[in-house]
Amino acid sequence: MGNTSFSIDLHCHSTASDGTLAPRDVIKLGKSIGLSAMSLTDHDTIGGIADATDEAKQLGIDFIPGIEISAKFPEPGTLHILGYGIDPANAQLAELTKELRGGRDDRNERIVKKLQSLGIDIALDEVLALAQGTVGRPHIAQVLVNKGVVSHVQQAFKKYLGQGGLAYEDKERFTPRQAIEMIHAAGGVAVCAHATQLRLENFARLERVLKDLVDLGLDGVEVIHSDHRPLDVKFLDAFATRYKLLKTGGSDFHGSMKSKVRLGLARQRLIPRAYFEALRDAVTRR
Ligand code: AMP
Ligand code: ZN
Ligand code: FE
Ligand code: FE
Repeated sequence: MGNTSFSIDLHCHSTASDGTLAPRDVIKLGKSIGLSAMSLTDHDTIGGIADATDEAKQLGIDFIPGIEISAKFPEPGTLHILGYGIDPANAQLAELTKELRGGRDDRNERIVKKLQSLGIDIALDEVLALAQGTVGRPHIAQVLVNKGVVSHVQQAFKKYLGQGGLAYEDKERFTPRQAIEMIHAAGGVAVCAHATQLRLENFARLERVLKDLVDLGLDGVEVIHSDHRPLDVKFLDAFATRYKLLKTGGSDFHGSMKSKVRLGLARQRLIPRAYFEALRDAVTRR
């Protein structure tokens, strides 16, 4: 392998949730840009894992199954927990992801009703028609863009779908403890995704919150991510070193749903292969 094999991507979305490329196509794209290892981390589902695993095998890329679970956290923060190395055949995992789907179905219905009450001509079926797996706000945002209600997805979140938006509705979520336990029960390791989205006022406060998650069994933190500034990367890297946690990194690629994010890149940074190797070792040890 050439020196491009240095680079990996452990945080990607496909059409199994709110990405725009099919699971196989995400892996193909990774191969074409020279990634040597990947994970697929769709929201609340492992629906894309079988295809991605098979494609990675055919193309000779290392692959680790993943999932990204939304957990309860005080506003205005968002807590997403990545699960790596989970067994896609785990029965409990299937049961719990079904539950998460129920919570989403319920919320999507409430959001659409709110939009209708605001005089917007939108039907739940139009949203469902856009989605192939986990249905989320990005799909609703896309419908609003397609109908010309807003100019782009970002605006749909700002005006209607984001926290404080006119049609904002929250979904039933697992507590952080439940999310971490669910990942462990399925044989995986739990990693705090994009900690900057916790929206804590300073690094001291972030450190306390992350320590609480470590006490609940968190195994690692996502050090490199498209949202992270150099200062965030530095803090998270030092935090992980201090508490002997796994370090992970990824672009959070969503295809054209987040058009500024490119696969294999997180704000122009590459993600080191060493992250994958430590992660694989940790999963093997579990
Ligand atoms: P949901 O899982 O339905 O709550 O939707 C969350 C997803 O929407 C996130 O993972 C992002 O991909 C996307 N998202 C959240 N906030 C925004 C925003 N302000 N603009 C664009 N996409 C967003
Ligand atoms: Zn997403
Ligand atoms: Fe996320
Ligand atoms: Fe993500």
